[in-house]
Amino acid sequence: MSKKILTLFMVSMFVMTALFTGCGAQKEQAQAKETKEKVLRVGCNADFAPFEFQDVNGKEYVGFDMDLIRAIGKEMGYEVQIQNINFDGLIPAMDAGNIDVIISGMTITDERSKKVQFSKPYYQSGLTIAVKNDNKTINSFKDLEGKTIAVQIGTTGAEEAKKVKDAKVKEFNSSADTFMELKIGGVEAVVNDRPVNDYYLAQGGSKDAKALSEILTAEDYGIAINKNNADLAKQVDAALEKLKSNGEYDKIYAKWFGAKK
Ligand code: GLN
Repeated sequence: MSKKILTLFMVSMFVMTALFTGCGAQKEQAQAKETKEKVLRVGCNADFAPFEFQDVNGKEYVGFDMDLIRAIGKEMGYEVQIQNINFDGLIPAMDAGNIDVIISGMTITDERSKKVQFSKPYYQSGLTIAVKNDNKTINSFKDLEGKTIAVQIGTTGAEEAKKVKDAKVKEFNSSADTFMELKIGGVEAVVNDRPVNDYYLAQGGSKDAKALSEILTAEDYGIAINKNNADLAKQVDAALEKLKSNGEYDKIYAKWFGAKK
């Protein structure tokens, strides 16, 4: 009898050990799977149509940059998570380790290149001026002298506007805010990236505003990557290259800007 009990005890111990080991192994497997499904934390300022903005329901981040980074992430085997951050807070957020990359219509500049590494250029841009339709006095950059100008904080547009003699430059958190300020008559002009001005006008803004044809600068957008992550930068460039050669980039481009000329 006691032998039987002992056997029973030993069997149950064996079963329990097997069960626990099983659980542990399962947990380990799940952890391994988690690390396999890598997450790419992407920062952008989602108020910069048509590159990054929120859809009509405010639920999804959409735009050229959003499609591009999702395609890049897929190519690299990463799940893409988007975070919406003020433009001037993007590089500090990456410095703090809260995001891995930035895609936000960000122009590759020498100043920024000291803090981040940029991917190969992915879009050619430049600045233009938008004014009210009935404005007859501002016809070129030099006409901005002594005028009031709205710009977005921390952008190349802000830098350019600050070069204008005697101009009063008002800085806003988003390009949308600069257009609003023009509309309500708070400023006489806005300086923004050309495709952003054009998109605003095409989406109904042309009812009361127009863009001047003069293009003030030649700028290239790049994806910014943490300086400490050379490997990630290589992966991003390789993915971008692949999307350019397999036609995926052109498809995304055509979706937002029409076929390339
Ligand atoms: N291209 C401009 C810059 O890099 C504006 C970018 C933006 O406002 N998202 O400064």
